[in-house]
Amino acid sequence: MAYPNTKETINLLKEIVSIPSPSGNTNEVITYVEKFLNELNVETKRNRKGGLIASLPGKDQNRHRMLTAHVDTLGAIVKEIKPSGRLKIDLIGGFKYNSIEGEYCEIETSSGNKFTGTILMHQTSVHVYKDAGKAERNQENMEVRIDEKVHNEEDVRALGIEVGDFVSFDPRVKTTPAGFIKSRHLDDKASVAILLQLIKQLKTENIELPYTTHFLISNNEEIGYGGNSNITPETVEYLAVDMGAMGDGQSTDEYTVSICVKDASGPYHYELRKRLVQLAKDNGIGYKLDIYPFYGSDASAAIRAGHDIVHGLIGPGIDSSHAFERTHEDSIENTAKLLYHYVQSEMVL
Ligand SMILES: [Zn+2]
Repeated sequence: MAYPNTKETINLLKEIVSIPSPSGNTNEVITYVEKFLNELNVETKRNRKGGLIASLPGKDQNRHRMLTAHVDTLGAIVKEIKPSGRLKIDLIGGFKYNSIEGEYCEIETSSGNKFTGTILMHQTSVHVYKDAGKAERNQENMEVRIDEKVHNEEDVRALGIEVGDFVSFDPRVKTTPAGFIKSRHLDDKASVAILLQLIKQLKTENIELPYTTHFLISNNEEIGYGGNSNITPETVEYLAVDMGAMGDGQSTDEYTVSICVKDASGPYHYELRKRLVQLAKDNGIGYKLDIYPFYGSDASAAIRAGHDIVHGLIGPGIDSSHAFERTHEDSIENTAKLLYHYVQSEMVL
């Protein structure tokens, strides 16, 4: 039995992280995913929120399964054009200003023009500012330096840049000889690449799934409501594929698939969690059970929205999440293997 090809998944991941998609401005990346699926002869439809749903009919069409991963990322939006010609920004999603200090970025105007810039502390130059190191990293002190000859607010507006323009961060994606993938937005584009590669595998091998299975590529997860809609009434199991959180006291690592038992929303469905563990054990897949303290997923968002479903959460382990993220190809591979077996397994109910 062949598993989804990890090298191909990583190449796909590199392409997806390189398409800017802060929550609220995801059309370009959704179009990319749509094209990828349509070329595999998988029909897709968009929901009104701008997410994408692909459905594979299964033997049992009366009971459905849904898997989701989110393609939206952290980002920022222009809040103010300063008299100096620098931009004040407002953050999209949950992270701190220190994690974007010095980052290259792209500003997209509402007419689609793109300008590059750098996110800096106003007091960056040590030759001028004494308190450069101690000043707080916050909205007041951090700004975007646009790579254009702009001296004031009028110059910036003349470029077409306005309040409300989206700002995306350079992913700086790199793979290393030891098998690591370093990039921003591995949360959750690593999982999107894994799901797309899984669909490709199922199609090319003509594998018929036991149940009709929907794949939702959601586009509003970072702001809390990506995958809480478009769940068919027939859906019994709903699995979110999203990053495993690493840090002190966490068992998740960059080499295994992380199976979440509980996050800030409470425990995930006990029977589904046990089934996922059993599938990992039966197939020699490296896994870790874990609790994510400050975390919610599209599966918990779906439960909160009132859907009566069996919900679960698994994903690759991501170090330094919402900042300078890294994972390893082993984690991608173990997550892909578990998903491959999961979509072909019996439901818990
Ligand atoms: Zn995520």
